[in-house]
Amino acid sequence: MNFPIDKFQALRTPFYYYDTQLLDQTLDEAKRCLYADYHLHYAVKACTNPQVLRHIVAAGLGADCVSGGEIRACLDAGFPADKIVFAGVGKSDWEIELALMADIFCFNVESIPELEVINELAQRHGKVARVAFRINPNVGAHTHDNITTGLAENKFGIAWEQTQEVIERSRQMSHIECIGLHFHIGSQILDMDDFATLALRINELQEVLDTYGIRLPHINVGGGLGIDYQEPDEHPIPNFRDYFGTFHRYLRLRQGQQLHFELGRSLVAQCGSLITRVLYVKPTSLKRFVIVDAGMTDLIRPALYDAYHRIDNLSRQDGDEVYDVVGPICESSDVFVRDYHMPTTFRGDLLALRSAGAYGEIMASQYNCRALPVGHTDEELCRQ
Ligand SMILES: *Cc1c(COP(=O)(O)O)cnc(C)c1O
Repeated sequence: MNFPIDKFQALRTPFYYYDTQLLDQTLDEAKRCLYADYHLHYAVKACTNPQVLRHIVAAGLGADCVSGGEIRACLDAGFPADKIVFAGVGKSDWEIELALMADIFCFNVESIPELEVINELAQRHGKVARVAFRINPNVGAHTHDNITTGLAENKFGIAWEQTQEVIERSRQMSHIECIGLHFHIGSQILDMDDFATLALRINELQEVLDTYGIRLPHINVGGGLGIDYQEPDEHPIPNFRDYFGTFHRYLRLRQGQQLHFELGRSLVAQCGSLITRVLYVKPTSLKRFVIVDAGMTDLIRPALYDAYHRIDNLSRQDGDEVYDVVGPICESSDVFVRDYHMPTTFRGDLLALRSAGAYGEIMASQYNCRALPVGHTDEELCRQ
């Protein structure tokens, strides 16, 4: 990726930088690899930067929301309501009402108590809510424990064995129309076998439902495709061909059935970087610390999930030293990386924390009374 470093010098750090050219290439490639009857929704929680959303709307994707705030952000950004799905294990009444009033495409429902509330609110407002049931497929994805969601022990979804029962139950409700099944097994999944396993589990379930004469028009397999955090320049665009191809190969759709995807990270992660300035280089008896002006308040993934982000020194290339790169926040977990090889680094250098477009800016906090990081794009900086 090419960074406009001369433009960066004038900007207040830290900030997020989004390469919308790479974003557009990523969206094009994802769309190119879709099969007929496949529909792509963007999982908005990964990044709601308005410039990023604008490009995703322009690409014609739908949206997967997990809160009323996200539904509002999507409607404001111009996503058509009939391409919005609303997931989440704890939907508040006002969020359900907002979604009903906007006439969104579908609620992904995670429990019978939730279904009853949606039915009641839909009745009150004279609406019929389209719902898909989020079924827990009990598939363990090979990823970090905090980001697997498809195991029986997770809080998400409805138990596999209850599927037929909840569908029958929904059919007795006057203001509910059950249109599909929804699944999501986790995030940052790179082993296509996990998606193949999910597809085979869905086939099993559809066979059981066939025996009850139940056929639903929509299947939604969620998101979770991972990206290459180690080598973002070698693999700037995820392997969408393999991903969609895996479902095409293993998932048996019924006649006319539509297949939906909700990708977040894989669409936006590589186009974003957190740009930060080196404040101090501090040698101690054991370590050499590079202290930067970005912290876990700007990018929490390393502190929260032990996540790795590649760090490039944009200001120089010479030398090879080993550093711990840390932020200024008063928490011992405010460490971006330990024992990391970088060129010899000095106060004032600009560093890029790579692959930070997903679950970066959106997870920022104001802890320590810090300002939220802003986002800049290539378009904006190169116009000036
Ligand atoms: C977070 C989430 C996604 C997107 O996950 P990624 O790993 O970013 O692709 C999709 N669907 C649901 C229900 C989610 O909660």
